[in-house]
Amino acid sequence: MKEAVRSRDAAQDGQFFYGVVTTGIVCKPSCSSRAAKPENLRFFADMDAAILAGFRPCKRCRPA
Ligand SMILES: [Zn+2]
Repeated sequence: MKEAVRSRDAAQDGQFFYGVVTTGIVCKPSCSSRAAKPENLRFFADMDAAILAGFRPCKRCRPA
């Protein structure tokens, strides 16, 4: 999953979402936002899990 985020693999959109702990934002794998450090990534199977964990949907890639 970290590789999918690093390469912004659009084929993985919908397969999982990732949150960045330093920003509190959750994104689709293909999001064009600035790459986060791998150690700051958290992975979620769906948006509900990400929201429950306290992340907000990204305004750029609109993962919700
Ligand atoms: Zn995003």
